[in-house]
Amino acid sequence: MNKQSKILRRTVVLVSPLLTKTKIETLSYIYHVYGRILSETLEYMWRNRLTSWTKAKKTLYKLFREKYPDIPSHYIHEAIRDASQRLKSFVKLKKKGVAYTDKPVIEKWSVGCDNQLWKLTLRGVGVATHRGWVHIPLGFHKQFWRYYNGELTLRSSARWKIIDGRLYLYVVFEKNVVLADKIPSKIYGVDINENNVTIYEYPSGRCITIVTDFSKIVLGYAYRRSAIQEKWSSVLGVKGNRRLKVALEKLRERSVKKDIKYKLAKKVVGIVEDGLVVLERLPKKFQDKVIERNKKLNGLDVHRLKQSSIRGVQALIVEKLFENGVPLVFVNPSHTSSTCPVCGSKLAPMTGSAQRAGWKPRYVKCPGCGFTHDRDVVGAVNLVKKYTLDVGGHAVCLLKGVHDLHVEWSVTTMKHGVETQPILAKPTTT
Ligand SMILES: [Zn+2]
Repeated sequence: MNKQSKILRRTVVLVSPLLTKTKIETLSYIYHVYGRILSETLEYMWRNRLTSWTKAKKTLYKLFREKYPDIPSHYIHEAIRDASQRLKSFVKLKKKGVAYTDKPVIEKWSVGCDNQLWKLTLRGVGVATHRGWVHIPLGFHKQFWRYYNGELTLRSSARWKIIDGRLYLYVVFEKNVVLADKIPSKIYGVDINENNVTIYEYPSGRCITIVTDFSKIVLGYAYRRSAIQEKWSSVLGVKGNRRLKVALEKLRERSVKKDIKYKLAKKVVGIVEDGLVVLERLPKKFQDKVIERNKKLNGLDVHRLKQSSIRGVQALIVEKLFENGVPLVFVNPSHTSSTCPVCGSKLAPMTGSAQRAGWKPRYVKCPGCGFTHDRDVVGAVNLVKKYTLDVGGHAVCLLKGVHDLHVEWSVTTMKHGVETQPILAKPTTT
């Protein structure tokens, strides 16, 4: 491991109800003065080739203090620091040749607050302004309390802005996650697929496939949704059709899918938390690439792939691993499910590849050494192998006895509620 500890950061947005006119006026004043200081500082630093914010502050602070004597002085500090950070990231982009403009421009901003400028209370937040403290009620949600009551600490700085008459407060929670300083004795390769997550444990050789059948669930919902749409929109149309809206809401599609993903992530983390976890490094536009490669897919299939969001499941798993301080590494996933883990030959498929009707083992065979197994098992084994060979280097010994690779495979199914059972009627697709 190259890092001993890592700071885990999570931003949470808290939104206020519609604010009174006076409060909006007061906050808007701060917002715009902050924006002006931000852009003037940025302009000044850019012109004078300055990058240090302390240097910029030396000349600018007095100037702004005279120009805007009424606002709390800490806003000036924050805006100047904000400007220098923006300048730094602009210079970085410029060096990479990916900056869109010749000089840094400010299009959007939020107001940065240090601990003197905001106060969180049980009902909302107090914001320091030129007219004293302004108190704003906030809707605290489950996510906020989960972090607040958990092991994370609330950072002393926050940001806010006004959108459509409401205050949006961005607070940050952090936690210093200490990673194991010696190499864990167990390594887990976690291969995330549309219909299952397969975990290979090294060195025991145990392998478990957790079947999720996500494609079935997503397809089921797609069918039901289009059936509902057809039923309710034929007379009243789609736009502004309340009955259609209510019928779709009753499906609880989003929350059910989210719930399944959470359960899955929890289950996976429960299995791997005593070791080091190896995951695939997913390309940014992962799902688009899969879709592009399969041009033959029809609309529903594309929908299914997008919705299955392997990335979303992985993100949840990664988050839970962080929270629990489980070390993880990412490896390049290329050829992980098509290369023989024993001899390195290209594997040949023995049984079907598409899993539209739910999970079934898909066996692959090695023409070189005869090794035969499910392709997702192969994927998980190869993730561990990639780590031990490429990343771990000499620190980890090679797969024990590569010539008699030991895999002890079991398959388990995630149980879903009745609402996730797909209906069988197939709608007409256009
Ligand atoms: Zn082989």
